[in-house]
Amino acid sequence: MITLALSKGRIFEETLPLLKAAGIQVLDDPEKTRKLILATNQPDVRVVLVRATDVPTYVQYGGADLGITGLDTLLEHGGDGLYQPLDLQIAKCRISVAVREGFDYAAAVRQGSRLSVATKYVGIAREFFATKGVHVDLIKLYGSMELAPLTGLADAIVDLVSTGNTLKANHLVEVEHIMDISSRLVVNQASLKLKQVPLRRIIDAFAGALEQA
Ligand code: AMP
Repeated sequence: MITLALSKGRIFEETLPLLKAAGIQVLDDPEKTRKLILATNQPDVRVVLVRATDVPTYVQYGGADLGITGLDTLLEHGGDGLYQPLDLQIAKCRISVAVREGFDYAAAVRQGSRLSVATKYVGIAREFFATKGVHVDLIKLYGSMELAPLTGLADAIVDLVSTGNTLKANHLVEVEHIMDISSRLVVNQASLKLKQVPLRRIIDAFAGALEQA
């Protein structure tokens, strides 16, 4: 049995064409079913639905043989025990620093004052500001980061940005582009040895679909 860990929403939707290229069709709609283990048209392949931030953990410890996760989540996890064969070029966005309109970010950075930064991405933010030599106080949040600068909880946020509409709607402006994000295929290293043939078949089919895209 091959177990693929996916999260609901954008990653699931954008993974379907890649699965199709590998001849795999998921038999349930994750938005309609309450099941967490979904069968596919291939009796030896199943999909487990997990929270996006748990995908690397499931694959690391062998709860799933492979999974699809955003680079943001993968970097925060650290990638231990994960083989990362492919950038799937899906769920693309960027991770950026944003502040309230009118906040003089450049001056705050120049003056060397401590910047308070709210984010779900503490590891990425810590490394980014350390490289710039900016002193930061990091505040870990689990959602709605946009609210932090508006309520005075923090000077800045580090968050994913796609169209920029969410920032604009909340009177926030992007002041630094930290990195581009896309989803990655991650594979359990022990599974890759034990189930080499079926896993290679899936990895190669995904790679072939990417070349044609
Ligand atoms: P947007 O308004 O299009 O810039 O989207 C920003 C909102 O969507 C933020 O709340 C982000 O956390 C979220 N978001 C954007 N792109 C992604 C992605 N690829 N994966 C997960 N969340 C995303």
